[in-house]
Amino acid sequence: MADELKKLGEFGIIGLFRKEADPSRRWVVRGIGDDCAVMDAGGSERLLVTTDMLIERIHFLREAISSRQLGYKSLAVNISDIAAMGGEPTAAFLAMGLTPDLDETFIREFKDGLFECAREFAVDLLGGDTSSSRDDIMLCLTVLGRAEECEVIGRGGARPGDRIFLGGVTGDSAGGLQLVLGRGQELAKEDRQHLLDAHHKPRPQVELGRLLARGGLASAMIDVSDGVLQDLSHICAESRTGADLDADTLPVSNPCRRLGDLIGQDPVEWALAGGEDYVLLFCVPGQKVDQARELCRDELGLDLSPVGTITEGPGIRVCRGGAWSEAEAAGFDHFKED
Ligand code: ADP
Ligand code: MG
Repeated sequence: MADELKKLGEFGIIGLFRKEADPSRRWVVRGIGDDCAVMDAGGSERLLVTTDMLIERIHFLREAISSRQLGYKSLAVNISDIAAMGGEPTAAFLAMGLTPDLDETFIREFKDGLFECAREFAVDLLGGDTSSSRDDIMLCLTVLGRAEECEVIGRGGARPGDRIFLGGVTGDSAGGLQLVLGRGQELAKEDRQHLLDAHHKPRPQVELGRLLARGGLASAMIDVSDGVLQDLSHICAESRTGADLDADTLPVSNPCRRLGDLIGQDPVEWALAGGEDYVLLFCVPGQKVDQARELCRDELGLDLSPVGTITEGPGIRVCRGGAWSEAEAAGFDHFKED
C-alpha cells in the first residue's frame, strides 16, 4: 500500500471527492457525507440512494461464509444505510465481479440469500451488472429508499444535550470475526453460533429507523458499520459537536463477554472499534427521550438506555471503568495501519 494513501486514510480520500462534488442541482438535498444521498422526488417525497461493496479477502473470506449468507449480507448492509436515514428501502441494483472458478451452486445459493433478504425487507431487484473478475469476488449493491421530507434523519442534526442511544448490542460481529479467524474455538456451541450469525447475517434495523422517523424523535442517526467510536465521530463531525460516551454502559451480549474472557480480549473494545454491527446509533433531544424509549419498548420490544450525551465539544470523551478520557480516533479505515 502506498504511504500516501495511508496518510490520507479512507476519509481523506472521500474528502477529496466531496470537496470537488459540490452538488448544486435543485433536486439534490444531500450529497456526499451521510449514509445515503437524498434527492427531491417531487412534492414532499424524498429518494434515498446508497451503495456499498463487499470484496473478497477484504470484507469476507470465501471459505468462512456460505454463499447464501453472502447474498443476504451484501443486500442487508446496504439496507442498513437506508434504515440509518429513517427510510423505507424499495429497490436494489446488483453489480458482480465473479471469478471463473465459481460453480453454479455458488451463484444459485448467493441468489437465494439475496432474495431472502429482498423479500424480508420488501425490496425489488431492478438491475445491475455482471462481469468476470481475475482473483477476487466483488459485489456492489446500490439500494434505493423513500421517506417523507420531514422523516429524513441525517448525521448533522445532533445538538448539545441530546442523549445517545444504540438500537441493539454492539461487539457481536467483531466477536464473530475472531471466531472466523480461528480464535476461541473452545467457546460453547450456542455462543459460537450467536456470534457467527451476527457477523454473517446482520439484521438492518429498518423498523426502528421508521419508528423514529415517523415520530420525529431522532435529531441525528447513523448505522454502526465501523465501530461505535468512529460512527459517533461522523455524527459529531457533521453536527459540529462533541460527545461524552459512557463505554461502561454499551450493550454487549453475554456470548460476546464469554468469548472476550476466553481469549483475553475486551469485548467493549470490539464494540468501540470493531464494526459491522449494523445497529442504529441515534441522538434524541432531552424532551423526547421518554417518548422515544416508550415507543421503542411498546412497538418493538426494545428496552433502550442512553449510552452518552452530545456535547459542545470539541472531541469525544469516553468513560471506561469510571474514568473519563479523550477518545483517540478508532474504528475501521481501509487505508490506515492496524
Ligand atoms: P457508510 O459507512 O454509511 O456506507 P461511508 O463512510 O462508506 O458511509 O461513506 C461516507 C460518505 O462518503 C457517503 O456519503 C458515501 O456515499 C461517500 N463516499 C464514499 N466513497 C465515495 C466515493 N468514492 N465517491 C464519492 N462518494 C463516496
Ligand atoms: Mg452507514
